[in-house]
Amino acid sequence: MNEVRTRFAPSPTGYLHIGGLRTALYAYLFAKKNGGKFILRIEDTDRERYVPGSVEIIYSTLKDAGLIYDEGPDVGGDYGPYIQSERKNAYLEYAKKLVENGNAYYCFCTKERLEHLHESGATKYDKHCASLSKEEVEMRLKRGDSYVIRQNIPETGSTTYTDMVFGDITVENKELEDNILIKSDGMPTYNFANVIDDHLMGINYVIRGVEYLSSTPKYNLLYDGLGWERPHYIHLQPIMRDATHKLSKRYGDASYEDFIKKGFLKEAIVNYIALLGWSSKDNVEKFSLTELVDKFDLSGISHSPSIFDERKMTYINSLYVKEMTGDAFHKYACRFYGDYEYLRGYNLEFLSTLLHSRVEVFTDIGKLTHFLLEFDGYDLDLMNNAKWKTDRNVAKGMMDGLIELTENDFDNLHDALVAFGEKNGYKKGQVLWVYRIALTGAQSTPGGAVEMAVLLGKDESLNRLKITKQRLCE
Ligand code: GLU
Repeated sequence: MNEVRTRFAPSPTGYLHIGGLRTALYAYLFAKKNGGKFILRIEDTDRERYVPGSVEIIYSTLKDAGLIYDEGPDVGGDYGPYIQSERKNAYLEYAKKLVENGNAYYCFCTKERLEHLHESGATKYDKHCASLSKEEVEMRLKRGDSYVIRQNIPETGSTTYTDMVFGDITVENKELEDNILIKSDGMPTYNFANVIDDHLMGINYVIRGVEYLSSTPKYNLLYDGLGWERPHYIHLQPIMRDATHKLSKRYGDASYEDFIKKGFLKEAIVNYIALLGWSSKDNVEKFSLTELVDKFDLSGISHSPSIFDERKMTYINSLYVKEMTGDAFHKYACRFYGDYEYLRGYNLEFLSTLLHSRVEVFTDIGKLTHFLLEFDGYDLDLMNNAKWKTDRNVAKGMMDGLIELTENDFDNLHDALVAFGEKNGYKKGQVLWVYRIALTGAQSTPGGAVEMAVLLGKDESLNRLKITKQRLCE
């Protein structure tokens, strides 16, 4: 077997979307699994959709996610250039070859004629220029008439190929249109460029979205017309936002970068998107990229769309967070601490030890530490606890004692709280409950009563206890 060569061919139209990254991941996995090469090609011929800066985002996202391409615009390779707009000159030559052997033709139809055709109910181009004589074509080219080059699709028969996921795909030729290959500005269309580039770059496995499944017969006719071997095809079902909507940039669905900002780890993102359209034989769902390379196989690719489930990705992320060492967790958490102004001044290393077992995604830090920012005015009914037979009245009765022991025995707080309970006929859990609520005003906190006091420090603890007392007495 020839060396496997796959490619990811994004158009630089904005952020790298999760669906695009999934395509890149599968192309990477298939290449690496087979000891082959993974290539990045930028398809930027549609200048109207071009968004400045998006090429750089594609480079950095792929690298960050670990999808290291063997060849690409910024890393070079033997089949460059890897940016379509820099390959402009190659395409015309092949289009002319197709004209010579009857698989394409020059078309001089004016915009007005095409509009008229459309208005008269035609669903596709009517091959008007396919029958122009050679002499007329030459004369008009010499005269400088504006032209495009169109593919000349046979009017009868059908075209079949075998997709490695979907099996045999047959399209009646009469369903296909004589699409434009070269536009009037000399630029190729996607329909043409993808074929020429894939061939010239030696791509033998084309992995892409299912929206290209039905155009592929057209592309195959181009391969045939140029006497080239067709590649293998693997088309992927879309990732859906819900049962009826595709995940899409248009709906503001998240990109890789957004998920990183939301506090997902790159390993977890890659792991989760691998599962969006593929499953391993043994139903394992957590794997490193290296394990994925090992396990990936085409038989696991799904025939139906998958639904993006952020809850599940969060769960997978939490597994990765738990596996981090304390140091690694703290280091990563520090990227987020800066977003919460109110954390300044706290012992963040200590905070990290409290948060580590509770954070599922790193932006949980906000939720879990919100009590540090907002304390006044919390609902005093939080003191209610059936298990500890506690309510705001019981709490009121404890407050003087709690303030006193905090004042005098802060360094030995746990024992002081226990002794206070014993002396005054309260259960230990009851005291700890009231103390924790009185300090934080929060139902759940990233640690117990003593840990919260240590985090807040003696002064702030006293301050908060006094506020709570005052409110209980009002
Ligand atoms: N540039 C195309 C896209 O972004 C790539 C399609 C393909 O992989 O052939 O959809």
